[in-house]
Amino acid sequence: MNRFFVENPGFGAAVVEGEDFKHLASVLRLKKGDCVMLSDGRGNECEGEIDRVEPGKAQVKTGPWRPCAAEPAHRITLFQCLPKAGKMEIILQKCTELGVSALVPTLSARCVVQPGKDFDKKLLRYRKVAREAAMQSHRGIVPQVLPLVELKKADLSDFDTVYVAYEGEKGLTLKAAMGDKPGRRVALFVGPEGGFEAEEVASLEAKGARAVSLGPRILRTETAGMAMVAQMLFELGE
Ligand code: SAH
Repeated sequence: MNRFFVENPGFGAAVVEGEDFKHLASVLRLKKGDCVMLSDGRGNECEGEIDRVEPGKAQVKTGPWRPCAAEPAHRITLFQCLPKAGKMEIILQKCTELGVSALVPTLSARCVVQPGKDFDKKLLRYRKVAREAAMQSHRGIVPQVLPLVELKKADLSDFDTVYVAYEGEKGLTLKAAMGDKPGRRVALFVGPEGGFEAEEVASLEAKGARAVSLGPRILRTETAGMAMVAQMLFELGE
């Protein structure tokens, strides 16, 4: 069943607007009586039936809301160092499907690409990608895409556990590190094409992060985030 995000649903009713409405009306051509799934963007979902299609919005009669079955209990934030053109969108799309809750574009020493003045425009585009991927993969939230941070200024105080995928770490695997059960709020760091500098990893470790290996092969930056999120949620049974 097609899924849409709604904001502030009322009692027994909700309104699909904006991009979701365009998709509902112009692409899927849904009409009165058609059944849809709704997510409130906060991790809840319900079934609904379209009551009226009006210019710019669709009114939907809703059934009972329940926690979204597809939402992982762990909240994973991926700090992804800026990759080369076009890759961030793929990373965001795939990691949304896999279950990340937030992505933070991160600037580190060896990023080949520097954020231009138009980075805010890119953020808007990334947020659209996250929304579309969340709809498609039946998420109960749209992962947040946060503003760019510099790696050395990344604030880790909101996380219970922080793992850094480090190509130079040959001993400790993510799986082994996760033996000490991560808390609910987890941050993951993935380096750019050029990898992390040893000092960058050391400074994250000084803030409490653990450097981990994702296995014996070196993955491209766009593969590493996906592999790390997938490994993590697999180990957590989510
Ligand atoms: N240029 C580097 C590789 C960078 S790979 C080199 O040749 O060594 C890009 C990023 O993906 C890395 O910074 C790291 O965060 C992650 N990564 C890739 N393979 C990894 C692995 N086997 N273990 C841990 N992290 C890995």
